[in-house]
Amino acid sequence: MSGGPTADPLEIGVTGASGRMGQEVRDVATERGMEIAFAVNRDADPQLDDVEPARRFERLVKETRPDVVIDFTGPESCVEYVTDAAEAEVPVVTGTTGFNAEQLEAIKAAGERIPILLGANFARGVQALIDAVESAVNALPEYDVELTETHHNGKRDAPSGTASLVLDRIEAARDVPSDRVYGRVGDAKRETGEIGVHARRAGDVTGEHEVLLAGNRETVSLTHRAGSRSVFAEGALDAAGWLETQPTGFYRFADVASQLTDTGDDQ
Ligand code: NAD
Repeated sequence: MSGGPTADPLEIGVTGASGRMGQEVRDVATERGMEIAFAVNRDADPQLDDVEPARRFERLVKETRPDVVIDFTGPESCVEYVTDAAEAEVPVVTGTTGFNAEQLEAIKAAGERIPILLGANFARGVQALIDAVESAVNALPEYDVELTETHHNGKRDAPSGTASLVLDRIEAARDVPSDRVYGRVGDAKRETGEIGVHARRAGDVTGEHEVLLAGNRETVSLTHRAGSRSVFAEGALDAAGWLETQPTGFYRFADVASQLTDTGDDQ
């Protein structure tokens, strides 16, 4: 996959460009020799840097027609950007999380007009974690399962989009339906089949997910820790390079993750 400059560098538009991930995407894209056609953010002041106010997105995406738009913003704005990008026939990679059912439907529906890829987590290690969790749940069907995720204190949605991906896979692997129990307080004895879900928000933690499986005399703990936000930016840009060549449709990061290798660009 793309890991360095090519003869025909990918040209991207970046939304949420001043946010944690937007900045990371711009940095990694620049390191890779990609072109940034435009960058927008909600509260941008073009006097300060080259990020434009988000209201200009519709015009910019039509005028510049980048190969792919990369979005790390919020669910409401993502749906708006995807609608405008579909109008301009420009593919979108979004890493935004926290969609409600209606917003998710709108994102999926855009796949009828453009290639669009949604990734709740662009770290390849998280894809491996999900596979490992499925295998452990299959091997230990009667064990109690609890999931704990930790993120920085600025994160809006809880539990994380990654936690939802992991929980979906656990539930699909189990024969019996599970009940997700979000935190516990008061008289809250654990019921059989429950999956406890715990969201911690503290400091600048990039992202951690731990799945604990416990029997009566043993525990299995599977954990992913993101060491840097660049791991997500790398995955999103790899996904963008892949998406550019795909036909119209709705894709997940899992569709491309197995084809990627670590380029070591982040060392
Ligand atoms: P952040 O708050 O640092 O950045 C979000 C940026 O989007 C901000 O600059 C904000 O001003 C901007 N924004 C919000 N609404 C906007 C709008 N309507 N128009 C234009 N700009 C708008 O957040 P972050 O840590 O960069 O995360 C952004 C999203 O990406 C979140 O949903 C987060 O959960 C998700 N995320 C996904 C991954 C992944 O691998 N998929 C990794 C990290 C974060």
